[in-house]
Amino acid sequence: MKALVYHGPGIKSLDERPMPKLLSATDAIVKVTRTTICGTDLHILKGDVPTCEPGRILGHEGVGVIEAVGAAVSTFKPGDHVLISCITSCGKCDYCRRGMYSHCTTGGWILGNKIDGTQAEYVRIPHAETSLYPIPAGADEDALVMLSDILPTGFECGVLNGKVQPGSTVAIVGSGPIGLAALLTAQFYAPAQIIMIDRDANRLEVARAFGATACVNNASGDPVPEIMKLTGGIGVDCAIEAVGVPASFELCELIIAPGGTIANVGVHGVKVDLHMECLWDRNITITTRLVDTVSTPMLLKTVGSGRLEAGKLITHHFALNDVLKAYETFSQAADTHALKVIIEA
Ligand SMILES: [Zn+2]
Ligand SMILES: [Zn+2]
Repeated sequence: MKALVYHGPGIKSLDERPMPKLLSATDAIVKVTRTTICGTDLHILKGDVPTCEPGRILGHEGVGVIEAVGAAVSTFKPGDHVLISCITSCGKCDYCRRGMYSHCTTGGWILGNKIDGTQAEYVRIPHAETSLYPIPAGADEDALVMLSDILPTGFECGVLNGKVQPGSTVAIVGSGPIGLAALLTAQFYAPAQIIMIDRDANRLEVARAFGATACVNNASGDPVPEIMKLTGGIGVDCAIEAVGVPASFELCELIIAPGGTIANVGVHGVKVDLHMECLWDRNITITTRLVDTVSTPMLLKTVGSGRLEAGKLITHHFALNDVLKAYETFSQAADTHALKVIIEA
């Protein structure tokens, strides 16, 4: 089968690889029909993710059709359409029993990281019963790819951890796919203001169309005075960090109102300064989280009913044969205006 393989920092290729096999009774083999590229895949290619070793098939998002199941899998059968979660969970370990699937002792984020991933014709899914979700007949399967990772990530790590409430003021630093996913799902709670901050005018335009009440471009200067002006000099109740660099986290520290919550979503590769000299008396909370995907069943319903228009995040389509072009398009988003690219296998 064809697969996109990571060969070490900066090196990837579309290779011919053997078909995956069932290794455990709880596994399923899924024929991948649609997958996508995540910002995290670009982090891996930069060499930021040491757990991902050369030779690994990348990808942790997608939908597909069950090809084969192990003897212990009873809830899925060949031919079933399934959503693949970026998080693998056994459902039985201490973390899983607490709903913290991201830290499952035999799962977590392993797909396209510690085991071969979804940017291939077929993928092996461990703990299939608790790591796959059935897709209702007639669903828009392109849109459902947004549920593998970015929508639960934006919602759980950003909106839920950030305690977005009716009438609250929210700032989202970073208007890429994850920031936009947080923007879409924050609106479940009807906050009074959602301010998007990014350096890319096109992405801010998209954010405005997706429901942002204000957009601040920080390419040419300090965005703090503008955000303070928008919030009556108080700052925001919730600051969601959706970039993963020190400057964007420190911006959240500068704009958080007393009693507010900074919810980190970004993947950080280097240390960030915590300005306790400004924050010690401000009653704030800082949260971090790897997505647990506990909200996936709820999000499936909101996408299925049309309440959450996940398909809006898709800008490009490619065949698996053109996956290298898909990477080029996704990684040059400033020029290509790419948000999420769908790769059809
Ligand atoms: Zn991802
Ligand atoms: Zn577990």
